[in-house]
Amino acid sequence: MIDTHIHKGLRQQLVRELRNKGISDEKILSAFMDIPRHFFLDKTFAEWAYKDVAFPIDADQTISQPYTVAIQTTLLDVKKGEKVLEIGTGSGFQACVLAYLGSKVYTIERQKTLFDKTEKLLEKLGYGHIRTLYGDGYLGAPRFAPFDKILLTAAASEIPQTLIDQLKPGGIMVVPFGGGNVQDMLRITKNEDGTLKKEKFGKYSFVPFLKGKA
Ligand code: SAH
Repeated sequence: MIDTHIHKGLRQQLVRELRNKGISDEKILSAFMDIPRHFFLDKTFAEWAYKDVAFPIDADQTISQPYTVAIQTTLLDVKKGEKVLEIGTGSGFQACVLAYLGSKVYTIERQKTLFDKTEKLLEKLGYGHIRTLYGDGYLGAPRFAPFDKILLTAAASEIPQTLIDQLKPGGIMVVPFGGGNVQDMLRITKNEDGTLKKEKFGKYSFVPFLKGKA
């Protein structure tokens, strides 16, 4: 895997595009500058890596659009040292962005082929400290709970209580919520008294959050 000045130039362009679309967090923008997104796509599609689009990866899944990754990361408001659970590892790119921001990342994937491939990739890219888990994200990661933040990168038509339970009081969960082709980006804040505050942040389109392992 090589990262050339051409790739770096394309990343600069992508960062400019994200800025124009309203992403302003400098640390998040640096993550897009420093993490070579083309490593997360099949070699033959490297040219697509720095366009602001979602793209197919293995097992009929997709790597989220850069803008969507930036929005979800912004809403999650990740701070250094926080424990973050990501559900839907996919290519591993979003997990690397979270780790880049200094959080302790746990990420779950239900597709074994993707899980195996991404686990190896993260190791190779120096992100071996991300804890990769093969399993059903509906169950969360009780062994490592509670989490400061939980990020769902698949479309959920219901929000499992198990996941709410694994969130610390004061914690934040970001979820594309809805059963159809388009979902509302939902930020759920768990108040200290256990009640939930829900806010919507626009429409997005994700692959479905599915039960069980594959
Ligand atoms: N965060 C990813 C985006 C992946 S797309 C990236 O940066 O590339 C969503 C992923 O969620 C898919 O890989 C899909 O297999 C996974 N997924 C769907 N339902 C799941 C579940 N119940 N548990 C774990 N992963 C799930």
